[in-house]
Amino acid sequence: MDKRSTAVIGLGSNLGDRASNIRFGIAEIERLPGTRISAVSSLYESAAHTIDENEIQPDYLNAAALLETTLSPHDLLERCLEIERARDRLRDRDQRWQSRRLDLDILVFGRETIFDERLTVPHPLLGQRRFVLAPLMEIAPELHIPAPFDAPVQYLLEHCTDTTIVEIVSKGRDRESTE
Ligand code: AMP
Repeated sequence: MDKRSTAVIGLGSNLGDRASNIRFGIAEIERLPGTRISAVSSLYESAAHTIDENEIQPDYLNAAALLETTLSPHDLLERCLEIERARDRLRDRDQRWQSRRLDLDILVFGRETIFDERLTVPHPLLGQRRFVLAPLMEIAPELHIPAPFDAPVQYLLEHCTDTTIVEIVSKGRDRESTE
């Protein structure tokens, strides 16, 4: 029997119709084989993180989706990259913080800690970014984030030093109660 894992995907967009881009991402994740979304956070808005503080970038919308999947972590990554490409993401290796239509990150994959040339899980910025932790807190406050964090979401948010203002812009829905 296929092993089923709980995973969390973080979604972000700061280009085009941002809410529609994120809705597209959620719908595509839901269509992945062996995958079921159990909760989706509200949409959260925050200013873009940039290396050069004089650089102006459109604000981001972010959300998180909690899912059960029989895909492997690397298969899930490939599928996420396909979904990003499908939303016509503009990629430029020299510009890490460029605007993007849709960015999907695997934030957590079960109890696994993965560090290879393709994938780092839990996502390395998870503990330092309020826009990642705020949606995660909404849908899975007690979820234990494995090493190197080794702490529940709630603890990481309480100890997050990121002072960026992250505001809720639309209510999410709990899949369990709407089905
Ligand atoms: P970025 O342009 O910052 O979204 O980075 C995309 C690349 O990050 C992908 O090609 C992945 O190979 C790599 N990557 C490493 N860890 C992760 C992760 N946890 N989730 C998504 N992409 C990841």
